[in-house]
Amino acid sequence: MTTNATAFQPLLDSIAEEAPVYYGQGKVNSSIPGLARVDPKQFGIAIATLDGGVATAGAAKVPFSIQSVSKVFSLCLALDYMGEDLWTRVGRNPSGQRFNSLTRIEQEQGRPMNPFVNPGALVVADCLVERAATPIHTLIGFLRKLAHSQRVGCDYDVAKSELSTAFRNYAAASLLKEYGNLHGDPRAVVGAYTHFCAASMTCVELAKAALPFANDGKDPKTGRQVLPPGRARRVNSLMLTCGLYDAAGDFAYRVGLPAKSGVGGGIMAIVPNRMAIAVWSPELDPLGNSVAGFAALERLTRDGDLSVF
Ligand code: GLN
Repeated sequence: MTTNATAFQPLLDSIAEEAPVYYGQGKVNSSIPGLARVDPKQFGIAIATLDGGVATAGAAKVPFSIQSVSKVFSLCLALDYMGEDLWTRVGRNPSGQRFNSLTRIEQEQGRPMNPFVNPGALVVADCLVERAATPIHTLIGFLRKLAHSQRVGCDYDVAKSELSTAFRNYAAASLLKEYGNLHGDPRAVVGAYTHFCAASMTCVELAKAALPFANDGKDPKTGRQVLPPGRARRVNSLMLTCGLYDAAGDFAYRVGLPAKSGVGGGIMAIVPNRMAIAVWSPELDPLGNSVAGFAALERLTRDGDLSVF
């Protein structure tokens, strides 16, 4: 069955119309000074289907900071470099803690629970720092290729502002180093990681970049295998179980899709063999997930019959 993007246009329009109902129910991230400046009352959504179609509603072409959504793409690059050996350094289970918690690093003796909590993403960033000449350029190049957009870039102001307040990530990196699970200098690793998080994309670009994850690693536009066979299935399983941190169970229940969120207010979601979705609205719930974005995906999968369950 092929899915036609334009068939979803009325539903997307209706979801975007409803978004303001959620404004004021969450808070824009305040720990990253560069993000606190963003106008909170914005909402955008884009879907990209395997036949090359795109449908959008709201501010789908406004760039935003993808933050932790970048962890999916940095993970893929680390797996390219290290293969399955990566899993000796990072686990594949939900952490049951906030994304930036240090508790589990101690409990697990320096092996982070999964690559989507900050400590896990720092180990992933360490792999890139060790092997790539300029890790941020490698990541942005990968995003540009997947999104078919040269506009994708790093927002250096956001990265700089986060680095002035990234004490918890410095602490996590130092602890990982102490346990012998970081090869590089903790400051350099936090620097690379923070720049990955500052990648700036629109919903349209993010939905297109996510599409190979819905298509067993093939870019439907070029037919090229941009992720090795089997990679999409595995990364999707990690997104489903760990992609929304502590809320992954609630998200699976209400939305039912592999997804990854970020504190910029973006959520990327995968409908295997059909489409990829990107939604953005800056106000976050207490666990760090977009309030309007979460609600939009819940409605889209319910009314569009898109849950994998
Ligand atoms: N850069 C943010 C941090 O390290 C990313 C967190 C997120 O998006 N959940 O805290």
